[in-house]
Amino acid sequence: MSTPRLLEVIALKKHFPLYGGLLGQTTGYVYACDGVSFGIDKGETLSLVGESGCGKSTVGKAILRLYPITDGEVWLDGKRIDNLPGPQLRPMRRRVQVVFQDPFSSLNPRQRVRDIIAEPIINFGLAKGSELDDRIAELMDKVRLPRDAMRQFPHEFSGGQRQRICIARALAPGSDLIICDEAVSALDVSVKAQIINLLSDLQDELGLALLFISHDLAIVEHLTHRVAVMYLGKIVELADRRTLFTSPHHPYTRALLSAVPVPDPTVKRQRIILHGDVPSPINPPPGCRFHTRCPFAFDRCRSEEPILRPAPNSPAHGHVTACHLDVVPDTAEVAKAA
Ligand code: SF4
Repeated sequence: MSTPRLLEVIALKKHFPLYGGLLGQTTGYVYACDGVSFGIDKGETLSLVGESGCGKSTVGKAILRLYPITDGEVWLDGKRIDNLPGPQLRPMRRRVQVVFQDPFSSLNPRQRVRDIIAEPIINFGLAKGSELDDRIAELMDKVRLPRDAMRQFPHEFSGGQRQRICIARALAPGSDLIICDEAVSALDVSVKAQIINLLSDLQDELGLALLFISHDLAIVEHLTHRVAVMYLGKIVELADRRTLFTSPHHPYTRALLSAVPVPDPTVKRQRIILHGDVPSPINPPPGCRFHTRCPFAFDRCRSEEPILRPAPNSPAHGHVTACHLDVVPDTAEVAKAA
């Protein structure tokens, strides 16, 4: 029997009801996440990328069971967790932790750093007394904060340092998977790089798996093993990092990549400007959801929804794409057509 993946998400859906009318009846749904599937292995980083509102944070919160899912399954280490009642969820909550975008609002301003980090350790009954103190000191070392800083309050730190505290808290119960929900988006460029390096080092040291949710492809390139690109509640392409960054198939992925700055002033990248707004997730377009903005849309795209399939002509194992096109247009052609 093969070893189960650390996390397996199968056809996950989260539809938020809209209420209206005099009686407050359901008048429609926001199709925030609409059939998303992927897996993450131990020690692996999978990045979920896409524009704001594409549903990537909804996926993270649904995995964490911050709200009930509409349909689909979530498995952790071979055990289904999406339908577990509250008390049986505790072991999962110990193993899957989260780091949110805004470290200030996710830390209790009245608690000292020591108490913030101690809380999950105490809640899960993992240590007390001197063992607890040793564990906190060790976590401060791991996130490269001075040990004496544990007596301070969150407002006494910079944004990057506060995010280190959040990471220490996420590591505290001995987690296997950390969901980083735009965890570096609010930080300055140099601080972003430091936090990315820290996460990467912690992953090597502890064998952590990361689900890295970001709108910024330039950031994920330095950290991730695989990338899943989301558009309007669906994954449109998934591949290992190298394949996605060098041989993307889907026109949307190509457009996103064309916006990533190249750190070489002599290289000019052909930018693909997508026209039109992202359609509303309340009323997604029929067929391919990207067809209203895709420079290559043809009749079939407007009526038949493309399903994820192995990317044509891609030798990379696990490279899948949801596009009817077999022949990949090159970036210059996409830019011209857009
Ligand atoms: Fe564009 Fe059609 Fe492919 Fe969708 S299926 S990305 S509309 S070519």
